Amino acid sequence: MNAAPQFNKLALIGFGLIGGSIARAARAQGLVGRIVTSARSEKTRARVKELGIVDDVVETNAEAVREADLVILCIPVGACGPVSQEIAADLKTGAIISDVGSVKGAVVKDMAPHLPKGVHFVPAHPVAGTENSGPDSGFAELFINRWCILTPPEGTDAAAVERLRAFWAAIGAKVETMTPDHHDLVLAITSHLPHLIAYTIVGTADELAQVTSSEVMKFSAGGFRDFTRIAASDPTMWRDVFLNNKEAVLEMLGTFNEDLAKLTRAIRRGDGEALFEHFARTRAIRRGIVEIGQDSAAADFGRPHQQLGKKPR
Ligand code: NAP
Repeated sequence: MNAAPQFNKLALIGFGLIGGSIARAARAQGLVGRIVTSARSEKTRARVKELGIVDDVVETNAEAVREADLVILCIPVGACGPVSQEIAADLKTGAIISDVGSVKGAVVKDMAPHLPKGVHFVPAHPVAGTENSGPDSGFAELFINRWCILTPPEGTDAAAVERLRAFWAAIGAKVETMTPDHHDLVLAITSHLPHLIAYTIVGTADELAQVTSSEVMKFSAGGFRDFTRIAASDPTMWRDVFLNNKEAVLEMLGTFNEDLAKLTRAIRRGDGEALFEHFARTRAIRRGIVEIGQDSAAADFGRPHQQLGKKPR
């Protein structure tokens, strides 16, 4: 672990999978003096109190951010603009304000105009998650060996960027910096499109109702079972991702549809050579991913618990 940066008060707006994991990890690493959180519903606030991970749970977002030197919005992408407006007047001068949204261009556009001069806006996206949500779903190891992408606007104070980088590194993440537009393009193909495909295929299978009820799950050793897990991801979060990364997703979807049409044609024409070539190319890509250490060659069911995100509490 890197040398721990110190923040006197961390304010987490929203306490679901990501907010809850940050709280648990920051606590476990001793990175913050106090953690204060707010969440939208009374039910979540009551549960966060019961969990006893944070020092204080407050009713309003504005109250949570007062005197905080690090504020992280852990809420759906579409809520970041309105919440920034709500907390702007209560942000401490010199505070770092960040988020964890899966889309960056829209979040920057929505948040930046509300933020007062004198605070440091350093947007972030931890590329780590599960299909679970809510205050009980987080765990301290979620970010270990996962990427966290920072997208600071031009001219952001370098010391503030470095402090946030060190914070994410201290809770286990590998940190990279890029522009919001580049982030959105990369994530459109690596995360957003795969989710869209999972949502589609599970919906398609469900339309074959007589099959779904029995045979689909029975025979879904790997492929379809994994799709159902991904398609169980939070509907609010993913609605906001597609509404806010429209251009990049549509661009990738256009290319994807062209490639799918090529494979469709190869199947229709019985063009085994084209199919073989395509599958051989994708197999080489997968092997390359394993070689550079981005994934393990072991099947999911053979992996140690930590990689699978075993919950400590
Ligand atoms: P989550 O488990 O559903 O938690 C969301 C939290 O936000 C809850 O505490 C919720 O409060 C609060 N919230 C929702 N709408 C709000 C609003 N309008 N104003 C204030 N608070 C609101 O979601 P999550 O998975 O942690 O995702 C949070 C963010 O992380 C999203 O922007 C997502 O794009 C990003 N992200 C998610 C993943 C992933 O795999 N899940 C990975 C990386 C980044 P209530 O409980 O009271 O409704």
